[in-house]
Amino acid sequence: MKESWTRRQFIERAGVTVAAVQTFNNLDPCCVFAADAQTVREELFDLKPVADGVYAAIAAPRYKVNCNAAVILTNDGVVVVDSHSKPSAAHALYRQIQAITRQPIRKIINTHFHWDHWQGNQAYAERCPDLEIIASQRTLEGLTRPDAGSGGIPYVDKQLAAVPKEIEQLREELGRTSEPARKARLESNLRQAQDYLAEIQQFKPALPTRTVADALTLNEGGREIELMVLGRAHTDGDLFIYLPREKVVATGDALIDWMPFINDGYPEDWVRTLNALEAFDFTRIIPGHGEVAPREHLAFFRGYLSDLIASVKQAAADGATLQEMKRVLPDRLAPKYERAMSKYPLGQYRERVGLNIEMVHRKVVAGG
Ligand SMILES: [Zn+2]
Ligand SMILES: [Zn+2]
Repeated sequence: MKESWTRRQFIERAGVTVAAVQTFNNLDPCCVFAADAQTVREELFDLKPVADGVYAAIAAPRYKVNCNAAVILTNDGVVVVDSHSKPSAAHALYRQIQAITRQPIRKIINTHFHWDHWQGNQAYAERCPDLEIIASQRTLEGLTRPDAGSGGIPYVDKQLAAVPKEIEQLREELGRTSEPARKARLESNLRQAQDYLAEIQQFKPALPTRTVADALTLNEGGREIELMVLGRAHTDGDLFIYLPREKVVATGDALIDWMPFINDGYPEDWVRTLNALEAFDFTRIIPGHGEVAPREHLAFFRGYLSDLIASVKQAAADGATLQEMKRVLPDRLAPKYERAMSKYPLGQYRERVGLNIEMVHRKVVAGG
């Protein structure tokens, strides 16, 4: 049940609430933030069978985050959905794929333009002759437009400027830290940041070679793969990869098992796009981040977006300022969403909710 809050109630409540303080920094180099996470595991991906010949490559937490991939085997080669944040990660998955099939990789599909989903394309392009790289038309535009957001070729230049500063900060922090576990984590993060910088300094963009305007059905070696643009969501151009016979869908970041990242998104369209996705018959979701999820996860994730939008709109109608909303709304939404949205070391509820409120406020209420 929705209760209406007066501005006074908002301020009173704000006074006794522990604030989830979050500031939005335009220069933040990450779609998903660089994370002080548990990054010690050696294997980058866990290849989990989802249906016969279909795998979810679940990414281990890393300081520079990697997205999941969907790996689809056919009689005529392999189709891989998304390629992570760097060529070395894509190469690591490539080796894991080679361990389960000798078939060549024929196609890479990029679900959207964000840095952590396409910067590994190059690894496949260098190793797989006649590789096709497929994305939506809007994603191809996003990959080359300077103002698209957290991804694309112009964003690589931004990272080349930002990561050295990040490395400096990590060094300074390390110098101030004596607690052994924290020190070990910072050392690992520093190493990963340095390796990442070295990789992007050598970066050779491998852009999509084929685009999808609305829909495309691939009949790949006996397997039907539908590529669908269902509307704007996490970005303008999100592509859903649907296997009708296996009842599996790979969603990129339009549907994840973390808190959503809304900065380049379209909150109200996103809800409608997920409604459109729900019309398809699938039982399992390979999300852009987090573990493989059942169909029911769609309603939960969409519920968060629509509750967030409704709360921000209501608060605005009650006269609350953005700062007041950021103090009050996280606790109001927490009982329903905090636990389930904080299952992993990355992308947790309290880490993102303030920024989500800010983005919904900017895009839905202020109309920016
Ligand atoms: Zn992502
Ligand atoms: Zn993304």
